[in-house]
Amino acid sequence: MKEDNCIFCKIANGEIPSATVYEDEDFRVILDMGPASKGHGLILPKHHFKDLCEADEKVAAKLFPLAGKIGHAMKTGLGASGFNVVQNNGASAGQTVFHLHVHVIPRYEGGPVMVSWTPGKEDGKELERTAEIIKDALHMQNGDDIT
Ligand code: AMP
Ligand code: ZN
Repeated sequence: MKEDNCIFCKIANGEIPSATVYEDEDFRVILDMGPASKGHGLILPKHHFKDLCEADEKVAAKLFPLAGKIGHAMKTGLGASGFNVVQNNGASAGQTVFHLHVHVIPRYEGGPVMVSWTPGKEDGKELERTAEIIKDALHMQNGDDIT
């Protein structure tokens, strides 16, 4: 399903032209117009999902293998030496376009790595407490079949 006024719905379904590197029945892969590095790709599902939490599991299951294929082509074709797979959910996580997408960002020897964070400090007890909270939330959403 497409959503009115969604730019990525229009691009994914070919209504707005884009620099397309790959297309199949579920996805279009385009180049980001504000690339973090040369060849920065965006995997766009053709169906509108706001983010990963809304995504159909069949579509979501195809995202990682496809990201791997696109990343491999960036290495063989563009001479990248590595790549980042980045996927933002929610404004606080940096999502600016609210149609699920996966960034595939080629990295080159000597180039900057922009996907990074400063490691914090947390003791084992606090990690355990946090793990329990997330586990409880998973039980609630999955009907208690997770141990
Ligand atoms: P995010 O911050 O994860 O929502 O990423 C949105 C990305 O989409 C940004 O990197 C933008 O540069 C890119 N973007 C937005 N509009 C377009 C467009 N019309 N064509 C190509 N890339 C776009
Ligand atoms: Zn959309």
